[in-house]
Formats: sequence, structure tokens, C-alpha cells
Amino acid sequence: MLKRLTLSAEKAYLFLGNESKALEEVLVSQAVRETMEYDVVIVGAGPAGLSAAIRLKQLDENLEIVVLEKGSEVGAHILSGAVLDPSGLNRLIPDWKEKGAPLDVPVKEDNFYILGEAGQIRLPNSVMPPLMNNHGNYIVSMGNVCRWMAEQAEELGVEIFPGMACSELVYGKTGEVKGVVAGEFGKNPDGSIGDSYEPGMELHGKYILLSEGARGSLSKEVIEKFNLDAECDVPKFGIGMKEIWEVDPEVHNEGEVTHTLGWPLGFKNSGGSFVYHLNNNQVYVGYIVDLNYKNPFLSPYMEFQQFKHHPKIENLLRGGKRIAYGARAVTKGGLQSIPKATFPGGALLGCSAGLVNLPRIKGNHNAMNSGIEAAESVYSAISDGRSGDLLPDYDVNLRNGVVGKDLKKVRNVAPLNARFGPLGGLILGGFDMWFQTIFQFSLFGSLKHGKSDAASTESAEKHKEISYPKPDGSISFDRLTNVSFSMTNHEESQPCHLQLGNPEIPISVNLPQFSEPAQRYCPAGVYEVVQTEENSSRFVINFQNCVHCKTCDIKDPSQNITWVTPQGGDGPNYPNM
Ligand SMILES: Cc1cc2nc3c(=O)[nH]c(=O)nc-3n(C[C@H](O)[C@H](O)[C@H](O)COP(=O)(O)OP(=O)(O)OC[C@H]3O[C@@H](n4cnc5c(N)ncnc54)[C@H](O)[C@@H]3O)c2cc1C
Ligand code: SF4
Repeated sequence: MLKRLTLSAEKAYLFLGNESKALEEVLVSQAVRETMEYDVVIVGAGPAGLSAAIRLKQLDENLEIVVLEKGSEVGAHILSGAVLDPSGLNRLIPDWKEKGAPLDVPVKEDNFYILGEAGQIRLPNSVMPPLMNNHGNYIVSMGNVCRWMAEQAEELGVEIFPGMACSELVYGKTGEVKGVVAGEFGKNPDGSIGDSYEPGMELHGKYILLSEGARGSLSKEVIEKFNLDAECDVPKFGIGMKEIWEVDPEVHNEGEVTHTLGWPLGFKNSGGSFVYHLNNNQVYVGYIVDLNYKNPFLSPYMEFQQFKHHPKIENLLRGGKRIAYGARAVTKGGLQSIPKATFPGGALLGCSAGLVNLPRIKGNHNAMNSGIEAAESVYSAISDGRSGDLLPDYDVNLRNGVVGKDLKKVRNVAPLNARFGPLGGLILGGFDMWFQTIFQFSLFGSLKHGKSDAASTESAEKHKEISYPKPDGSISFDRLTNVSFSMTNHEESQPCHLQLGNPEIPISVNLPQFSEPAQRYCPAGVYEVVQTEENSSRFVINFQNCVHCKTCDIKDPSQNITWVTPQGGDGPNYPNM
């Protein structure tokens, strides 16, 4: 399995620490980190990364391609709605039906409601812009679609290593990205080297494709290092939470898709729900809250739990069983927020570049299309004998090709939501999408997003605390009970992967100014402020519960939390999210 193995001597250090962390650094040995050479290294086995791998092999079966995935298996960290627009898959594997792709449930009914606390108004489908129509789309588990795509890739000869978190980038002599470090295991909680330390491997490639999804940790590093966001608007995100339910067959309607706005989030904050009926009496129930909310007392998780008590939803779930839970950030910046998508030695794919079409809540087709575009650009570069340089044609094709066209028509929806709230945004955004469908241009031009999600958080004194009803344990659940349904696991004796730039800030700044919102925005209850015996406050991070949604990295008002990869294989183990 190890091809063209070379050995690079790396210094390894033993840190002999005491409790005050004044570490004595002692060089103990010359640990060896294996180096494996590939044509292309792909980080992340989501729809973007797997599409790139498949297309590269379709173009040249002799290319050596590796895909590295931090989840314990492909699909374990994939969380999507998902209604899949199959346009990307049609392009990649036109005979996907014959090849047994798990697209078994065509959408047959599309509903859109505005909810009040006790009732709802249905918007007729005829007023919805044509691009919102789900006819021809499929309700899928993207986890299962990715598992199937991984099989297709392996049949073509792609090497896929799950359980391998890519924790560092490797830079070459001219500063280009030439590889990644993956599979480092066995560090002690203080960062020192443990008894079972494994230094991992360096995987080098002519090009490195980063397809880590929303707020990828290595993607964030290259965006900063190479100033890729110098000319784009700020990135925008939402937090999406999802449960899988098994419901009474009497109320199940395979192929039904429902989206809602309004209660309980109201019309000051943007967000809404999705309810997708797949097969086997299962229903995906989810809620997305835009992370530009101002009130630091808002809890996206509790909004989701409350939503399920709306009579329309409670009637569906009553007597049913919640069988899985998870959460993940979703990109919402669209066209204006796409950073330059290439850097020396590689490219950003899928939601690492932020390619979700917001009003459609769809990013999987764009993730696949970006994978295809990146693969075609890399193939042509390698065919010309190039390596380690920029892929400018990829960047151009992404913006001007199918992905750019898909995002262009909806580019003003997020800024209109931010300015006029979800109801005003619905009306003006709907008008803008209709207008562009007919006249091919927008009266608004291209609106800007304004503040980042972190900077949108206002001080606690400007807002009232929100008192959420206690979960009832049958329709709504507390966070920790729900996290146990994500099958999340982290080896406890490793460094905390939620790194504080300054450990004082949560208590000295965030608590007095923002009532430390991490206690509420984290959908897994990782962050707590506890009172000590001396009556002071202490910030506690229960990193074992982290479901890798990346919200803290995005929403912390002080931008003091950096999400880095824990040991490979740790994190959620989603079945069919
Ligand atoms: C709640 C929710 C609902 C959605 N609904 C829909 C929908 O209905 N339809 C639709 O089309 N889109 C939907 N989307 C958007 C869609 O899921 C994304 O656009 C899509 O997942 C992006 O694909 P990707 O390949 O870029 O990233 P991802 O699917 O996030 O895959 C990234 C992969 O990379 C791995 N990874 C990340 N970092 C590393 C690392 N450093 N080392 C190794 N592995 C790493 C991750 O574990 C993961 O497996 C939804 C998103 C959310 C959150
Ligand atoms: S700690 Fe951060 S990444 Fe982990 S679940 Fe909480 S908000 Fe998400």
C-alpha cells in the first residue's frame, strides 16, 4: 500500500511538564514521519472531494489520487438536509441509477409555510420563483450518497483513508502548499508526546485540494495565509440542526418536502425549518438559524426544540421515535463571499469556498460541480507538466460556469434578509429572483452582507434573556440527551481541539459583555460557565461532546476560539444524515 515511500526525519520532543506548564523540552529521538507521494491529495470525503477524485480518475486512470477523511468512515461526519439536485451527479456519473446510487425518493410534494404560534399560512407554489421548485430532485441521506460515491471512486483506483484527520499543511520551498500531515495520534492533553505517540504521515501531491466543508480548518489557514478573501465580502453562515425520526405510517408521506419560516424564531432573525419525508417511515426534521443574530441570549438549539411543538409538526412526530441527531454549519454568503478559490499548490472546493444556494438550501450539487471543475483544471495542469502553482482557470470556471450561474440569481437574498428580516427578505428576495429570471439582471445590483456573524452579536445589556420551555423528553430533548444520538466520541486523553487564543477572554470579556454566548450557540453543550467555590466563574470546555459543527469558530464574538482537528476517527458517527 505504501508507494514510493521516502523517509523524512522529524524532530520529536518529549515535554516534561509540571502543572504550571513550564515545560522542559528535551529532544529524545529522531521520530520518523513517512512521506507518501501522490499526484493529487484531497482533504475531505464529502461530495466535493469525492467528485474531484472520481473525475480525475475518469480523465486519467494512471493518476495517483488519495482522499483523506477525519470521520471513522466515509459519511460519518456528513450532515446535510438533504434534497439533492442531481445536476452535479448527472454530470459526474450519468448512469448513477444503473450503478445503484441511493437516490430512491423523488420529491413529489413541495410545501412552504409561514408559521405563527398556533397556525400556518401556506404560500402557493405558483408564487415561488421557478428555481425553488424541487421537481426532479431527490430526498437523500448525503452520508449514504457519499458512501456510494466512495465505492465508485475506489473502483476507479482512488485510495481513501478514513479516520485520518489532516491536522497541518506542509509548505514547499517557495511557500506553496505541497502536502498535509495526517494521522497524528497519541499526544497527551498538554500537547506533549504520549507513550503511544504516532507522528502520522506527510502526504505530498502535485496539487492539494481542500474540500473540508463549511469553515474547514486548513481552508481557514490558506485563506488567511494567501489573503484569498482580500477582494470578497465576509463569509456568512447558519447553524443547521437535524434529527431523524421514525413516524407513524399514518402520517408519513414519502416524497413530501416542507420548508417553514416564522415561529418560533420570529421575524427579527433569519432561519427556518425543513421537514423531508424519505422512505421507511423516516422523516428528516431540521432547523437552520442564521448566525448573524444579534441577541446573545438566543439559543439556536432551543429554537429548534420549540419548533417541534408547533401543532403541525407535533402532530407528525407524536408517537414517533427520534433515532439520530446532529448539527453542522452551513455557508450562506453565496457569490459575493467566495474567496479566490486557488492558492499556490491547490484549490478550495465545495463549502470550503462557500457554495450553498441559500434560498434553495442546496450546496451538494455545487460541491460536486466544483469538484469536477477542480479536477479538470488539475488534470490539464499535470498534463502540461506543472505542479505546485495556482489553478487560475478553476477560479474563473467556478465563478462563470454552472456554479457561478446558480449562485448569481440568489446573491441578494441573504443581504435582503439581513436588512429587512426574513419576511421582508422573502418578499424582496422573491421579487428579485423572479425579476432576474425574466430580465436576467437585478435592480439591486449586488448587495453587500455587512458585518461578519461574530461582529453581529450585540452586548447582553441591549437584550432580554429568553426563557425557553423545558424539553418534554418525547418531542423535545435536552442537548446532552440528543448528543448521545449523534454517537459522538473523542478519546479523552488528547489535547482539547477547541483552542482559546486567550484563555481569559471567555470570563473577562465574553461573560460581562455577551453573557458568554458559547453556552447557548453550541448545539452540543460543549461550553459551560460554572461557579467555583470561591464564587468566581470558570469556563469549561467538554470537548468530548463536540459534533464538529464549527459554530464556535464562526460565532464567538471575540474570535478567540479556533477549531482544529482532534485525532482522526473521533467526533460524531452519523448513520444516514
Ligand atoms: C442542516 C443542513 C441542511 C442542508 N440541506 C441541504 C439540502 O437539502 N440540499 C443540498 O444540496 N445541500 C444542503 N446543505 C448543504 C450541503 O450539505 C453542503 O453544501 C455540502 O455538504 C458541501 O459539501 P462539501 O463536500 O463541500 O463538504 P462536506 O459535505 O461538509 O464534507 C466535508 C468532509 O471533509 C471532512 N473533513 C473536514 N476537515 C477535514 C480535515 N482537516 N481532515 C480530514 N477530513 C476533513 C469532513 O469530515 C467531511 O466528511 C445542507 C447543509 C446543512 C448543514
Ligand atoms: S464545540 Fe464548537 S464545533 Fe463543537 S459542537 Fe460546539 S459549537 Fe460545534
